[in-house]
Amino acid sequence: MKPIGVFMTELTDYTYETTMRAIDTLLLYYPFLEKSTIGTSVMGKEIPVLKIGSGQTQVCYSAAIHANEWITTPVLLQFVQEYAQAVTEGKPLYGADARELYRQVTLYVIPLLNPDGVDLVTGALAEGEYYERAKQIAAAYPQIPFPDGWKANIDGIDLNLQFPAGWELAKEIKAQQGYTSPAPRDYVGEAPLTAPESRALYEFTMSHSFALILTYHTQGEVIYWKYQDLEPAHSRQIAEHFGAVSGYAVEETPYASGNAGYKDWFILQFDRPGYTIEAGYGENPLPIADFPEIYRRNTGILTGGMTEILHFKTTAP
Ligand SMILES: [Zn+2]
Repeated sequence: MKPIGVFMTELTDYTYETTMRAIDTLLLYYPFLEKSTIGTSVMGKEIPVLKIGSGQTQVCYSAAIHANEWITTPVLLQFVQEYAQAVTEGKPLYGADARELYRQVTLYVIPLLNPDGVDLVTGALAEGEYYERAKQIAAAYPQIPFPDGWKANIDGIDLNLQFPAGWELAKEIKAQQGYTSPAPRDYVGEAPLTAPESRALYEFTMSHSFALILTYHTQGEVIYWKYQDLEPAHSRQIAEHFGAVSGYAVEETPYASGNAGYKDWFILQFDRPGYTIEAGYGENPLPIADFPEIYRRNTGILTGGMTEILHFKTTAP
């Protein structure tokens, strides 16, 4: 049996439950995949991670840190499926030797970093204490549609403004924009890493040695690759490769959103290539109908995150 396209044909909103079911299906078809948990959300949902490959070079892809960007979850799941299928059949993966990649790289995929927030936006969470509190938080921001405009975790903390890389500056900038307490978006929290989801990603990253990370967002069809003026070795070349294979623009992060993100912190902490991929175009949440096109545009980046890092490792002086 080969479930090629099992996700692509299931054009459905990706909730926590949908995601966990998809992961179970992947584990069933591809027993060489390993699943574990990086931590739990505010509501106690597990944040899953899939491991594929046995190589020395570690790479990490993550998605849906922002609730209304959940379309990035199936992008990663679909890629895991295609990669695992290529390994199984000994076939190439978008021009790369899948079995060779498997031998040389260990890829960690965290498809759903913000399960509570995603359930809120998709309507899977539409009643109860947490829902009512979120609704109350949102009521103070009538210009942000509810729940469609919700990016934060269920506590109203923006998980991508929680990392210790210019957090104080992010706090200042966001306060000037009116975000000083829990909000559907752009609230940095009381201190860095207070949200359990951000803390889990931080701990997981600290306990590994990732040569490269991709963090998936929507929207804008843009690749951000720098933190301030830091430029890790080969990161520009890899960014340009990503731009070429996707058609996405390669840009420097705008000042107002240029701090306290996961990618920012990764670059600052490790001085290695880290990328925010703003996939798709339109208004968040992008409809699942956009998935096939978004996926098509990103297969080169997802493959390239492994092949490019290997390339520069082997050609390093
Ligand atoms: Zn985002």
